Amino acid sequence: MAQTTDRNIARSTAVGRSYRKIERPLDNQGVPLRISQYYGDSTFDYRKAKNIPENVKKELDVVATTNKPLPKELADVVAKTAMEWAISRGATHFCHWFQPLTGSTAEKHDSFLDIKNGEAIENLSAGQLMQGEPDASSFPNGGSRSTFEARGYTSWDLTSPMFLLEGVNGKTLCIPTAFISYTGQALDIKTPLLRSEVALSTAATRFLKSIGQETARVQSNCGTEQEYFLVDEAFFYARPDLVMTGRTLFGSLSSKNQQLDDHYFGDISERVMGFMQELDYELHRLGIPAKTRHNEVAPGQYEIAPIFSNTNVSADNNQLLMATLKRIAIKHHFVALLHEKPFAGINGSGKHLNWSLSTVEGDNLLNPGSNPETNYRFLTMCSAVVEALFRHGGMIRAAIASAGNDHRLGANEAPPSIISAYLGDTLHRIFTAIKDGKAVTSSNETAMDVMAHQLANLSKDNTDRNRTSPFAFTGNKFELRACGSEMSIGLPLSILNGAVADVLNDTADLIEKAIASGKSADEAMKEVTKKWITNSYDVIFNGDGYSDEWVKEAEKRGLLNLKTTADALPMFIDEKRMQFLLNQKIFTKDELETRFNVLIERYNTLREIEFETLIQMVNQHVIPSVLDYKLQLGQVIKTQKEIGFESSVESGIYKKLNYTTETLFNRVENLNNGIKELPEDGPKVAKVISETLMPLSEEVATLCGEVEEIIPDDMWGLPKYYDMLFLR
Ligand code: ADP
Ligand code: MG
Repeated sequence: MAQTTDRNIARSTAVGRSYRKIERPLDNQGVPLRISQYYGDSTFDYRKAKNIPENVKKELDVVATTNKPLPKELADVVAKTAMEWAISRGATHFCHWFQPLTGSTAEKHDSFLDIKNGEAIENLSAGQLMQGEPDASSFPNGGSRSTFEARGYTSWDLTSPMFLLEGVNGKTLCIPTAFISYTGQALDIKTPLLRSEVALSTAATRFLKSIGQETARVQSNCGTEQEYFLVDEAFFYARPDLVMTGRTLFGSLSSKNQQLDDHYFGDISERVMGFMQELDYELHRLGIPAKTRHNEVAPGQYEIAPIFSNTNVSADNNQLLMATLKRIAIKHHFVALLHEKPFAGINGSGKHLNWSLSTVEGDNLLNPGSNPETNYRFLTMCSAVVEALFRHGGMIRAAIASAGNDHRLGANEAPPSIISAYLGDTLHRIFTAIKDGKAVTSSNETAMDVMAHQLANLSKDNTDRNRTSPFAFTGNKFELRACGSEMSIGLPLSILNGAVADVLNDTADLIEKAIASGKSADEAMKEVTKKWITNSYDVIFNGDGYSDEWVKEAEKRGLLNLKTTADALPMFIDEKRMQFLLNQKIFTKDELETRFNVLIERYNTLREIEFETLIQMVNQHVIPSVLDYKLQLGQVIKTQKEIGFESSVESGIYKKLNYTTETLFNRVENLNNGIKELPEDGPKVAKVISETLMPLSEEVATLCGEVEEIIPDDMWGLPKYYDMLFLR
């Protein structure tokens, strides 16, 4: 029973661990530095660098916000200053940091070393800063290029700060870059996101201009709420499924899980708090504005949310945040699980994308102000977003499709796979009145009376909370809640930006026409708001998104219900649906096809790894435990027979165990055969997997859970849910 000992060692290791203490930096008087004194210490932003002349900064800003190419002399100033800064902090290398379609980030390191006239020197040239050339053939390309033209380029993104990556024995200067093919195709997440920002800004400034408000640029903003689990490292490595797939492929639920709702916002244990403090410290040094941290609903589940920023920076920050989360967790002997569904039967993890639009001057276009009823710009903007959701909900659904997210969307914990909008009472009341041509009344309930005079005033939140909606208006922003915890947010944000830009272009057209025909801007905006709301009213849903009635109701309304990744991804190659992305030059048809192929391939591969791992674990862990127990039971039964004693208990257990295991064995055989018979073609494989093999593997998982419940605790070799969720 060697494996049982492994579990026991893991248990005593986890329980015996203490917290990790770090030394926080102090000032001359020994007082801990304030966050603002070390915030961004590990980042380099030319806009803030003291050693870069103001006129250079201004010229670079023009390059970053217009079509103007980057002159080498300017890049050289940045390269030299950035290198000196990095070296003074102990860096020896630099790398182009980018987001290929693997779902994570990639980096190729070069040292600053150069040889000049036979002498060793440090150097970072303008060329090295501006452009890199990683071998593109090693990254997923969805079959879009043959290997002989596998050249790819990385290109410096001026708008995202560089940062220092710290290793045990040195530091590396990371330069955020986009990754583009020899032929100019976007091979990454960032390029389309940047293009979507341009499209959105163009459309939104046109809209603003049409109503007489001039601004140079409009940007989209995003604040992410990132959920994750922590399990002790010892358990992690004793569960092959966690190591190979990031989630437990089976497990019997512990008797206490989240029924008591006592974990949410609960006390944070000392060891976990120690981790969170170090994490925040590291993030702050990296210029990631971590703000909120708390326990989540499920035991062992937590959330971290930085303050929002421009979507491109927010997308880079989220990648870096996820990497830092994992890196710091290990130092505390935790493993951070970012998978959307690490444990069956309790809540999974998502990532809420709080999204808004603002002018460069910081004017939030989704801000209702004190009189939303007559804030026509606000009403037009919100109605345009709702119309965008109505028109392009299918594409937004596709953008958040993944194997992991399939376990959440539609389960009773996460927004459903039907994309709808929740507006909150105030906005819904206003929109309904506008649609019906009725007078809009203002509600004057702004303060709440809670009958406890000791308390400070509470203002009544006019957005209310409907946690079951995948897309909700929350005060002065919309919140896309259906994104998975592990995904890169760049893809859904590009699609959302593109969808809204599409409607804002039409909005500007309509308003320009109305004004040309003699209407006032307010009248024109009222008309457009009415048009969008009337048109898209079916996508608005305020009820319980988890209910079965909503599924039926949504079907009646003609809304898409794309349940699985296999159902959702074909949106990317739907000629009609992709048109808005092509029109605005956010994606080419080829690039969408690439994403479709890469994502289908990733889905299939992940699932196949899951199936193989599941089968192995049944054969190598579950069945051996069954045999041990059967042997023990058989011994008892035999002995009882010998002494002439009859008991139905042992034979009852024996029969039940035998029956369950035989069923299990049979289903595993079916799964095995199913894998062998998979077709060649990617999309077909995805269909078979999601429709046949997934249900089969879930049956296997349930049977494993049943076996786990029969086997005595000390004969079960794998860490159980109880261990992983409660022992730390
Ligand atoms: P919760 O949804 O948990 O109540 P909040 O709504 O206060 O939390 O904030 C969640 C995230 O929304 C944070 O990252 C915050 O910075 C971000 N946020 C707040 N205002 C905006 C905005 N105007 N645009 C985009 N994100 C925003
Ligand atoms: Mg929120």
